[in-house]
Formats: sequence, structure tokens, C-alpha cells
Amino acid sequence: MDQDTRPLSDIVTSSCLETLSGLPKKGKPLQGKEWTVLAGVVEENMATGTFTAVSLGTGTKCIGPSKMRDDGKILNDSHAEVIARRAFRRYIYYHLEKVYMGKGSHIFSNPDPKTGTCRIRHDIQYHFYISHTPCGDASIIPVEDCTGMTADEKSEITRDIQRKRKLDSETESDMKKPKLDTDGTTAYTDILRTGGKPVTGEKQDPKQCSSNGDYHIPGLLRNKPGRGEATISMSCSDKLAKWNAVGYLGALLSLLIQEPLYMSSIVISRCPYSERCMRRALWDRISHVNLKEPYRIRKPRLLFSGLKFPYANVGNMKPCARAISWCKVPDDSLEVLVNGFKLGATKKQIESAAAQSKISRMSLFQCFMKVHGFSKKLSNRNTAMDSLSYRAYKSSAELYQAAWKELRRSAFTNWIVHHHKLDNFCLI
Ligand SMILES: [Zn+2]
Repeated sequence: MDQDTRPLSDIVTSSCLETLSGLPKKGKPLQGKEWTVLAGVVEENMATGTFTAVSLGTGTKCIGPSKMRDDGKILNDSHAEVIARRAFRRYIYYHLEKVYMGKGSHIFSNPDPKTGTCRIRHDIQYHFYISHTPCGDASIIPVEDCTGMTADEKSEITRDIQRKRKLDSETESDMKKPKLDTDGTTAYTDILRTGGKPVTGEKQDPKQCSSNGDYHIPGLLRNKPGRGEATISMSCSDKLAKWNAVGYLGALLSLLIQEPLYMSSIVISRCPYSERCMRRALWDRISHVNLKEPYRIRKPRLLFSGLKFPYANVGNMKPCARAISWCKVPDDSLEVLVNGFKLGATKKQIESAAAQSKISRMSLFQCFMKVHGFSKKLSNRNTAMDSLSYRAYKSSAELYQAAWKELRRSAFTNWIVHHHKLDNFCLI
């Protein structure tokens, strides 16, 4: 096969776009009427020089605290990035199961019989794709900093900001109105906005239409934007910063895989984008944090692709309420989700497995317990941890928890930690 000469950003983007286009229509936005965000994880096999999309997520919704459940069955956060990462973990569990069963896997070395843990092969690395700059801090971009857009796209954005500004000024007091320049015109610095609000404990946005563009304060922890009830889920910018510190696999998988997994690059395709704002959001604000090995603040390459995502928001479109979760596994690889459950699930079915997504906390906990059983058997460990809760297993990941605690202590003090009741479920 000929060497692929396209830039890495285009290879990663087209790998996700082509995989999405090969999926059935169900769950995708109505073309021209609805928009969504796509995220995906692309696996690079450096030995063979191949790139494969292994998980995808689409979605723009997030439920409020009143809809959250304490049984692990609902997806609280259905933004594309979060779905793609959860589906990626499902893919990882599938390969772990294979390798523990002695069937081999191209991504894992054989488990170490002493510790019962595996290692990701050195010639495998991962890239994270997002069709839009993540919500929250990275989306606060001065228009002059935006790259990768045509003059027409820039002026459309400026018009949009002006529309929002007009709406704001109708509800603002005179005190907040912008000052006029000496020639009688208004001097603005246009800044792209995010719907995410600073979380409790952070400074609050001035929201002024002023000449220095201080509508938002950059660098703050923000919640997920949403209509109605305020969400208690952190913005994708904040979550990506966290994953750049404690890895993309989370607490439970740190008990089975020896090293945390970080992304080699983050690729964004054609949308309002600023590399400077991405750096600020994804690691500058945590770069002073000292973590114990094997954890370390990583700075993945930031890449931008000019390829167009076919379901991007081009004005006057509605966000698609449906979310798609897909990963490269043989069974039930694709799911369409609404309000945190499978599309079509009736109220009656909510308690049953039929309604529950394969990437819910309960489902991924079931995957964990299966592989954990193999791992224990292999290493002859006899721990008393057989019927513990999801929360108890997560707490037992000591190195992971120490890194996460340190990140919160020294940078993300105001991170919203969910009530422990939401994590206390056991396996059913
Ligand atoms: Zn988001």
C-alpha cells in the first residue's frame, strides 16, 4: 500500500467522517435542518502505518441534576466528546477481554501474571478528533484569533455576535452599555462566546459589551451550556484538560492497564478555532500542577483540518436531540440515544437492560467486573473486593485518585464533584 501523504489532521478527520458516513441514517441529524458535533478516537498502528477510527460519538445535550439517577443507568452528559470517550472505553474492554482469554489483541501485550495487569503496545497510539472547538473555555475566542475560516464565514460569525449583542443590550442597564468612540461609533472587540457559565466559586463573567472584549473571563471552570435547569456537568474544555492530566481511560481501567493513556494529538476540523485558546483551556491553566509518575500533564499536538463536517451548524438550525455512540466491536456496536437512554425506550422499560446504553456507567462497570475477574484469577489475588460498589472500586485506584485529587487541589478547586450517592450502585 502506498504511503498516505495527506497531513495527519486530514487523515484523522477523514477517518472519522468516513466511518460516520458508513453508519445507517438513524440517529444522524436531518440534513440542513439540524446540527450536531462529532468526536472520535482514531487508532494509529505505527508498525503498519494504518489509521482506524475505533470510537465515535455525536451529541449536544446534557441532562440537569433533577434527571440524574443513582443506579448508573443514565448518561448524564451526551456531548460528543464524552460519548466518544465512553465508547472508546467499551472498545478497550473488548480487547482486554480478548487478551485475558488468551485470544490475543493487537493493542495489548499479554497480561503480567504477577500483577494481573496489561500494557498498551508501544506501536499503538491514539488521536482525538472533534468537529468543533470544545464547549467552555476553548470556545472563548477573539474573532481576530480565529483561523481556518473564509472571510464569509468570519463575517457570518461577526453578524451572529452582533445579533446576540443586540439582544443583550435590550436587557442590560445603561450602565453596561458600551462607550462610544469620539467619532460616535462603537468600538468593540468581537469575542466568540460559550453558553457555559462559570461554576460556583469561580469569578463571574462581566458580560459587558465593552471595547476590550471582556464579555467572558478566560481560563475559568465552566458548566455545560443548557436550556432550562443549569447542568452540573463540566464543560468539554474542562474535561479534556482533566484527561490530559489523569489520562483518557478513567479510574477503573487504571486497575487493569499499567500506564495511563494519553492522546497523541487533538484534531479539530473547520470551525471557529484558535490554537492559543485551545492551549489555554487544555493545559496552560494546569501546567503548574505536579503529579506523581506515571501521571504527568501532557500536551498533545493540536492540529486543525480544513475538511468540512457535513452536520455543522451553519445558522438557523436546531441542535439534534439524538446522540450516536459507536465503537469497533463485533456486537451492538451502534446505539442511538435520547435523554441518556436508548432511542425508543419507554418509561416502563427504563429499569430494564433494553433501555440502557452499552456505555452507561453500569454497563462499563459490568465490563470492568468481567475483566477484573480474569485478572484476579491470573495473578491469584484473593481480595475481598467481590461485591463492592462502583464507587468503592473507583476509590481503590489509589494512584489515579491521588493524581486527580492533586489536580483539583492545585488548579481545579471549584470542579463540581457529584454527590457520592450517584456512584454507590453495585453490579446487578
Ligand atoms: Zn461540550
